[in-house]
Amino acid sequence: MFIGGEKYTPSHSKRIAVFNPATGEQIESVPFASPEDVKKAIDSCALAFKSWSQKSYAERGAVLSKISAALKEEQCLEKLAATLTNEQGKPLAESRREIEGLVGVIDYYTGLSSSFHTDFFENKNNQSYSFTIKKPLGICVSILPWNMPALVMAWKVIPALLTGNTCLVKPSSICPLTILEIASVFHDAGLPAGVLNVVTGSGDEIGKQLAASPDVRKISFTGSAEAGKKIGAEAAQFNKRVTLELGGSDAMIVCDDVNIGDCALKAVSARFFNCGQTCISPKRIFVFESVFDVFVKSVLEHVSKIQIGNGLSGKTMMGPLSSEDGLKEMIEFVENARSKGAQIRFGGVVPKGAEFENGYFFEPTVITNAPKGSRVLLEEVFGPIMVINPVKDLDEAIFEANNTNFGLGASIWTNDLNRAKRGVEELEAGIVWVNQHTKVLPELPFGGVKESGFGRENGYEALNGYLETKTVVFKF
Ligand code: NAD
Repeated sequence: MFIGGEKYTPSHSKRIAVFNPATGEQIESVPFASPEDVKKAIDSCALAFKSWSQKSYAERGAVLSKISAALKEEQCLEKLAATLTNEQGKPLAESRREIEGLVGVIDYYTGLSSSFHTDFFENKNNQSYSFTIKKPLGICVSILPWNMPALVMAWKVIPALLTGNTCLVKPSSICPLTILEIASVFHDAGLPAGVLNVVTGSGDEIGKQLAASPDVRKISFTGSAEAGKKIGAEAAQFNKRVTLELGGSDAMIVCDDVNIGDCALKAVSARFFNCGQTCISPKRIFVFESVFDVFVKSVLEHVSKIQIGNGLSGKTMMGPLSSEDGLKEMIEFVENARSKGAQIRFGGVVPKGAEFENGYFFEPTVITNAPKGSRVLLEEVFGPIMVINPVKDLDEAIFEANNTNFGLGASIWTNDLNRAKRGVEELEAGIVWVNQHTKVLPELPFGGVKESGFGRENGYEALNGYLETKTVVFKF
């Protein structure tokens, strides 16, 4: 844990083992926070809030700039990337990009630190004038997933810090190490003690305690829809602000007027990046019948070239799943799809060979013609399985794309402006891409609709999620 500006080891000995998913070996263990440990972190945040919230935007922005500079140091970036690969499994190049993504978010919000504005109103008849002031909320909790821990931490923590809040971070027990290292970099670069604390342990237990704590003013959660519903319900009992960034089952619509080979290549890279464990990867692909066979053939060619292996090897294009449970889920998804009559066109099995024996590897898998009712169409498939189904036209494609409880992202691939416009208007998703998928930038609001959650991260509007508006009316 990281509390009060230093590594904190509680007196009790209960710990959580952290494994390398490529080898199955235990690499570390972290403390399993007790309620007293969580209380210590809350108190530390509360104490630090008194001075951090009094600093100007420019002063807080200056601290964030120093953190960004520290993270850009090659040694620091490489160390964090290696830790991320070792605990999460993704190839080193993807880990580096994630840490660079964290830096990008810091730089974006630091740039906003001088442009924050509030409203002013004058009412001459009433001889009054009014304005709004924005106050930080207080202690803001960030609950993180394991798939992109550093980037998701940035989306929550950076706007919260810039606006004067203090942060209590709860990383996933699968990937706590990178977050603990990042906290230490933040502190060493000048973030005052207690402004950012990290507690490790059970999401369920810590979540309940944080939701019930009157000192905690906001919980921003990223994770599965299931856990999101639980923490949302807990927080609702105390009328606590919540942002829920939950799972997705993004649809990708491929029309018959695009370059099919190019589209297939981009679909493969978007789907199998991070071993398919990306909330916004295209999990259900609907392709016009007339180009279906060409698209599938091209996908299979690209998928057959994916090199699986330990993320530390320069040759690896796709690492293992991050947990044994994740691997079991993939096996079950494929069994279910096969039993329903879907065609398994590639993979669907654990790869053979000594280097894969103890890790959580699964071959990149392509399933076509999945019948209605298959789990791969109904649930979020958080792993390397691509599902491709034919559709006769755009009406059917949009219907099938929206035929899900999720609504995070969706894309339409076409050169026809009218088709693109229909996709933008009719796809039920928080983000719609045209002729690309998964592109995310710090300035673009990010979040879902339906069971993918509510609230937006990133962009200018995320700042308001960490501020309270106070209206002031002056009569003169
Ligand atoms: P998860 O729900 O298992 O865990 C997420 C975090 O919540 C962990 O830190 C966990 O300890 C904690 N947690 C679990 N139960 C809790 C509870 N009852 N109360 C409070 N906290 C609790 O999710 P995961 O497996 O770590 O992450 C994968 C999921 O995250 C996928 O569904 C993915 O789509 C989603 N995700 C969404 C986004 C987004 O921005 N929408 C981004 C990344 C990942």
